[in-house]
Order: sequence, then C-alpha cells, then structure tokens
Amino acid sequence: PVRGRAVGDSDCIFCKIINREIPSDIVYEDDDVLVFPDINPVAPVHLLIITRKHIPSLSVMDEEDTPLIGKMAKIANRLAREKGLDSGYRVTINSGPDGGQLVPHLHMHLLGGRKLRWEN
Ligand code: AMP
Ligand code: ZN
Repeated sequence: PVRGRAVGDSDCIFCKIINREIPSDIVYEDDDVLVFPDINPVAPVHLLIITRKHIPSLSVMDEEDTPLIGKMAKIANRLAREKGLDSGYRVTINSGPDGGQLVPHLHMHLLGGRKLRWEN
C-alpha cells in the first residue's frame, strides 16, 4: 500500500523510492519507516530500513525524532526473525564520510546470513 509521499527532498534517491519515482521491492512500510533490499547486497540478507522523513544523517537528527531509531531496531529484529537469522545479524547506521555514509537519508542496514567480519 502507498502511504503517502516522503517528507523530503526531491533530489534524494531514498525519497524517490518512497515516492515510487525509483522502483524498489518494498518489503515493509508504515507511517514512519520503509524497508527494501539494498541494490548492492554485501550479505545474503541485506535490507535497508529508512525513515519516511528525510533526515540527512544520524548526526543531524532532531531529538524529537530519536524514537525512530528504536522503532527501526525493533523492525530489524522482527525481519531478522522472519528471515531466519537465528545465529545472528548486524544492524549498522553509517554517518558521514568517515562512517561510510553514501546516501544522505537516515537508514539502518540489516545484514545477515553469513559470518560477518568487522570492516574498518
Ligand atoms: P550508506 O553507505 O550507509 O549510505 O548506504 C547506502 C546504501 O544504499 C548502499 O549500500 C547502496 O548499495 C544502497 N543503495 C543505493 N541506491 C539504492 C537503490 N536505488 N535501491 C536500493 N539500495 C540502494
Ligand atoms: Zn530523502
């Protein structure tokens, strides 16, 4: 179901996914978040959990929006269970250039399905 447009930025690739201007296989959405597969997966399960609101990064998140992080974590946990990631998984939020953030729209990676190394 389409639940309205992104509160966003017309040049943002993730806002375009929210607005169906770029195709994506959205696996979950509600009033606050959407989930879709990463186009360049680095693990057998690689989903992106994004906010509907265009928040450029964790580092500029308004305090009133911080409960979204808890909601994203809860959804990640549920999806991990649904995907059978019983032996573990990783959630990651990259922030800024040194954090490896490429898309300036807040998102959480859910990675699983293989033994993950710590990249640095
Ligand atoms: P980050 O480096 O944390 O900003 O992560 C951005 C992620 O978005 C990368 O893993 C990309 O592979 C992914 N990505 C970029 N464009 C798309 C797209 N159109 N659909 C799905 N994932 C995308
Ligand atoms: Zn955006």
